[in-house]
Amino acid sequence: MRMTGLGVSPGIGIGKALVLKRGTRDLRFRVPPWLVDRELDRLEAARLRSRDQVEQIKQRIASSAGAEHAYLFDAQLLMLDDPMIVGRAAEAVRAERINAESALQRVLEHVNALFDQAHDPYLRERKGDVADVVGRLTMNLRAAGDLTDLFKDLEGPLVLVAHEVTPSVIAQLDWQRLAALVTDAGSWTNHTAILARSLHVPAVAGLHNASAMVAPGAVLAVDGTTGEVLIEPDAEALEQIAARQQRRQAYEQSLDEYRDLAAVTEDGIEIRLEANIEAPEDAMRARERGAEGIGLFRSEFLLTGAGPGAFARLTEEAQYRSYRQLVEMADARRVTVRTFDLTEAQLRIDASESPLRLDPASGEGVRTPLGMRGVRLSLASEEVFQAQLRALLRAAVHGPLRIMFPFVSGLEELQAARAAVAKAAASLRARGEAVPDVPIGIMIELPSAALTADLLAREADFFSIGTNDLIQYCLAVDRTDDRLSRLYEPLHPAILRAIRLVVRAGRRARIPVAVCGEMAADPVLLTLLVGLGVRELSMTPAAIPLAKRVIRALRASDARVAASRALNARTATEIEKGLAELAEPTVKKA
Ligand code: PEP
Ligand code: MG
Repeated sequence: MRMTGLGVSPGIGIGKALVLKRGTRDLRFRVPPWLVDRELDRLEAARLRSRDQVEQIKQRIASSAGAEHAYLFDAQLLMLDDPMIVGRAAEAVRAERINAESALQRVLEHVNALFDQAHDPYLRERKGDVADVVGRLTMNLRAAGDLTDLFKDLEGPLVLVAHEVTPSVIAQLDWQRLAALVTDAGSWTNHTAILARSLHVPAVAGLHNASAMVAPGAVLAVDGTTGEVLIEPDAEALEQIAARQQRRQAYEQSLDEYRDLAAVTEDGIEIRLEANIEAPEDAMRARERGAEGIGLFRSEFLLTGAGPGAFARLTEEAQYRSYRQLVEMADARRVTVRTFDLTEAQLRIDASESPLRLDPASGEGVRTPLGMRGVRLSLASEEVFQAQLRALLRAAVHGPLRIMFPFVSGLEELQAARAAVAKAAASLRARGEAVPDVPIGIMIELPSAALTADLLAREADFFSIGTNDLIQYCLAVDRTDDRLSRLYEPLHPAILRAIRLVVRAGRRARIPVAVCGEMAADPVLLTLLVGLGVRELSMTPAAIPLAKRVIRALRASDARVAASRALNARTATEIEKGLAELAEPTVKKA
């Protein structure tokens, strides 16, 4: 069987399905024979723990509201002892070798179906009780261990099939074990896709119901370039896939010769190509791919992408070590670190805890595109912000580092953020530490920032246009929602006008303007960006060799003409046509 979605991280991965439904609460996979007893023990431990909890609740209710109200919990205690639930789940674990969570869900689905057939309304209401009991059992299974602990003993490469990969899942995954990632939701620019690309894990998003269709343990072949997912492919299909992979590898290798060449257009315009990375170690790979520096280090991935134990990284000292490593790995090339671009749901600040904690679990399923995030959240979380800024200023002693603020909506935020840097510098000086001069720039990713770029340019040392968010906010299209992907249009005239406005403002104020959104990595769109006057592009390291090839075959003067034609066009379709004409001879020449 075959499913097709959006290829969001190129490459081919083959492995056994690990199915994750609804956040981290419902993980389904098949276990090898020697782990069956472990699953049965987990199930029994969860049952005993659930019993204790329900007993305690029952006693509490009895003493506060009277024994007549506590009887409700007797039903739950009976269910916990009833072979229809835990007993049946244990049977499923034994017979089908599935994990305990999976078996419980199976039982719940079965019991629900039985209740749905019942005509008695009393019986139908009991459905809620069963769901409650199964929910408690599942919670207690989870309480006993981390996700990674659960599947670390599974055999072979795995393909994670999830409804949605939330920050809490990202934080708990052992990405090394993943041959590929497949999601019901998601899109090219959401952070899971960005991370998958940076970790070279092939991924397909927007499959709608993969997590319902794919059986745990099924073999999947995932093509993250075409968006194709084959379930239980036969030998012939596997052969075809292997051949496809070889062809692609040969093509990648053919681009190797461009890695060390300069990104200069045919008519001599130099374009600075830098890399977007999510982990300090990636700086090395960026260099190997021919990046001139790091144009975007997404610092929040120190927390969400680092697996269990990420909490401690919020301390000044731990961050300093990471930024210093980053700067040293970049080997004297410029590094631009973006301060945390987290949402409030991801960053729960609990002043009583030391170190301050990131609570990835609370980020589950929460999208706050218009809420507290980016620099707003940093400004409201002074302790976290100051620790990050001190760490960055200290790391800047070791190499050319720039600080960049995300999600700036206007001048006052930039001024407040600059004041925060001054404060961090003063406190370091008071500690007797040297503080170098560090350029301070901002992401332009909100329409309000693009429209006031002239004002911002007077007080920022550089701009970097984040087209991923700029498109989302200009067009009111949630970038993570695959159902809207057709409306997510980089070539909308509003986007081109916004970019032109920012480039002009930067030029007038004589500050550099880069583009670090995914548009920069697209071989056709980047020619338009060059035509619009952008001279710095930052992209995922793997895209750099092809970008160099395209730029070296391009005449900037042609790109300028195409860009001015695009600016006069009325629709994205017209713009696209014009660009195709420009790209064709460029690609042929290359
Ligand atoms: C952007 O918004 O274009 C960007 C580069 O930042 P992120 O993708 O991390 O939001
Ligand atoms: Mg952004």
